[in-house]
Amino acid sequence: MKKVYLLSALLSALAVLATVAASVRGAPNEDGGAREGASAREEAAPARDVRTSPSRPGGAAGGRDADTPIRVLLDGSVRAMTMYEYLPGAVMGEMPASFEREALRAQAVAARTFALYRLDVMPNSRHPDADVCADPNCCMAYADGAPDKIADAARSTDGIYAAYGGEPILAVFHSSSAGSTEDSGSIWGGELPYLVSVASPETPEQNEKYTAVVAVSPEEFRDAVTSVYPDASLEGDASQWITGITHTRSGRIASLTAGGVEITGTRLRAMFGLGSTAAEITAGDEGIVFVTKGHGHGVGMSQYGANAMAASGADFEKILRAYYTGITLTMIQE
Ligand SMILES: [Zn+2]
Repeated sequence: MKKVYLLSALLSALAVLATVAASVRGAPNEDGGAREGASAREEAAPARDVRTSPSRPGGAAGGRDADTPIRVLLDGSVRAMTMYEYLPGAVMGEMPASFEREALRAQAVAARTFALYRLDVMPNSRHPDADVCADPNCCMAYADGAPDKIADAARSTDGIYAAYGGEPILAVFHSSSAGSTEDSGSIWGGELPYLVSVASPETPEQNEKYTAVVAVSPEEFRDAVTSVYPDASLEGDASQWITGITHTRSGRIASLTAGGVEITGTRLRAMFGLGSTAAEITAGDEGIVFVTKGHGHGVGMSQYGANAMAASGADFEKILRAYYTGITLTMIQE
């Protein structure tokens, strides 16, 4: 493991930055619909075929989204809506309207797909009376007042979703990646064939929150670790506390050992509010500094990457195929 010893002056400066960085939610959203809740442990329930789902009466005028009922948990109550009514709010909640049109269309298809996955493949046991909720840490964010540009992204992709093996995929996404996306298996244990690491083209210049710094004192680090892992022994020279850093295939932190206990990268990210697990760690007597690249868990579509692809001329289908390996773009059956 590489260890760097920092000057105390630098650490002091970074500590100020860290307070800010730790409190800032990432743009365009914290986790991009990617949901720690969308974990492999939820992958065991039986699947239904979207085309035979009883929730899909179909046939009426107004498009396939308009024929797709969805129950949405909003402000504590379940609202019966259609996909046509719901989708612009989900896109609005998850991606800035300033993004490129094709990125917004890719987001609309990803959001529709995520909702169909909840409807037809894997209902969320946290809210059995609703198909989706508006908690971005559970399902997808939702915001009213979507402008025409976002409504058009939903309307112009009416009924289109990403499928694998004939079913809607778990279309997770995140704010930005660090050069490449993450394997689902590295984060959630269960590898999904369409959620594997691929190159992602966003650059730091396109996203002011691409790089983030979190610095903690030795005491803060010890308190955070021992509150979760009481057996951790963190005494003496803090520069020696972190050992055995392992990395995932995409270069993110898979795990490390601190005070004799193994901590996964995902857990570390949650404990210290890191932007991502694509982190460089420096440990010294003054404390521990994490410098991260990208924001979110890194699995599935990168929103800033999608925007970069769109700016380079890619359409929404090309964007989706780039981030979700081996998918078929499918139409909700009428
Ligand atoms: Zn939910």
